[in-house]
Amino acid sequence: MKIHEYQGKEILRKFGVATPRGIPCFSVDEAVKAAEQLGGKLWVVKAQIHAGGRGKGGGVKLAKSLDEVRSHASSILGMLLVTHQTGPEGRIVKRLLVEEGSDIRKEYYVAVLTDRATQKVAMMASSEGGMDIEEVAARTPEKIIKIFIDPLDGISDAQAQALARGIGVPESSLSQAVATFKNLYTCYMETDASLAEINPLILEGDGSIKALDAKFNFDDNALYRHPEIVAYRDLDEEDPDEIEASKYDLAYISLDGNIGCLVNGAGLAMATMDTIKLFGAEPANFLDVGGGASVEKVTAAFKIMLKNPKVKGILVNIFGGIMRCDTIATGIVTAAKEVHLTVPLVVRMKGTNEEIGKRILAESGLPIIAADTMADAATKIVAAVK
Ligand code: GDP
Ligand code: MG
Repeated sequence: MKIHEYQGKEILRKFGVATPRGIPCFSVDEAVKAAEQLGGKLWVVKAQIHAGGRGKGGGVKLAKSLDEVRSHASSILGMLLVTHQTGPEGRIVKRLLVEEGSDIRKEYYVAVLTDRATQKVAMMASSEGGMDIEEVAARTPEKIIKIFIDPLDGISDAQAQALARGIGVPESSLSQAVATFKNLYTCYMETDASLAEINPLILEGDGSIKALDAKFNFDDNALYRHPEIVAYRDLDEEDPDEIEASKYDLAYISLDGNIGCLVNGAGLAMATMDTIKLFGAEPANFLDVGGGASVEKVTAAFKIMLKNPKVKGILVNIFGGIMRCDTIATGIVTAAKEVHLTVPLVVRMKGTNEEIGKRILAESGLPIIAADTMADAATKIVAAVK
């Protein structure tokens, strides 16, 4: 799960990481009021979307007067913000963050994430923070310093100091940088984050260290123990089909291809997607209906897949273990009739009640193409969408 920058900063502050003062806003008037309330002579108006690269896309603007706050807020709010992370379709900006301006002396980068290779928590930092960190990683990877933290030991002072010295934090600000890294590590662990990134982490003119941006990803499997993070969820930023799927407890991810897949079991779903690719086509989605899917769940799954206009054919691949093939067959027939199925449908079924399932499909009167092996199913659906 992702959250907005202003929410990320609320979390950082709870863990003792300093940030500029700021107020989230939903309208231009609110933005002007927020700036008045913050006071000072410099403000930053920032688009809040679940994607980075906002600065380069025109979603972060400095304002030197309340009039400028008003004009920036009106141009950013409602704009279609396209960044390298949103893809060409971009995002409509519905929320703003108005912050007090910061006196930036230096922009650093710091991030915490899980490193599978070492089975540790990696913290990486760079002296070259700001908007071009991807370039730095690609061209001068030696400018990104990493430490690996054993989760049983936690981060040591020596490690945090090595990182701070490594990115050139001046001696007078070292203890604050060390505290920031340690607090960020605690924050990452205690919130069950899978990514906590601050870019830029700044050194201010007065020597203080502050998080000017905040990006978090949280492990969905741990959200049950963080109601305070779930409360940050912004459905406007999520794929509507994925939201609909989650209501039925379906594991669904939209992809770019044109063959919808309905499969039971994540492993079989992955194998099915691989097989489709092997036979020269692209899957339109990942969809795992789970082990004990009801007719209602299968019907919902079918409807969600068919809502995608890119879907030119559907491949159902079911292993009837716990899930019985006749349940799936009934779901397919119900859904196909309800949505007036117009695209070709290939069904491969193996396992419990296979014969009953096949009979239900055959007697439905629907134009279903039966397949035997995975290769047979992939060949048939690829031919059908061509
Ligand atoms: P991103 O582009 O989505 O990562 O958005 P950021 O929050 O990182 O903002 C982009 C850039 O705007 C930062 O790297 C800073 O250079 C600049 N910026 C953000 N806040 C301030 C501020 O308070 N003062 C100044 N001078 N620049 C800022
Ligand atoms: Mg940033």
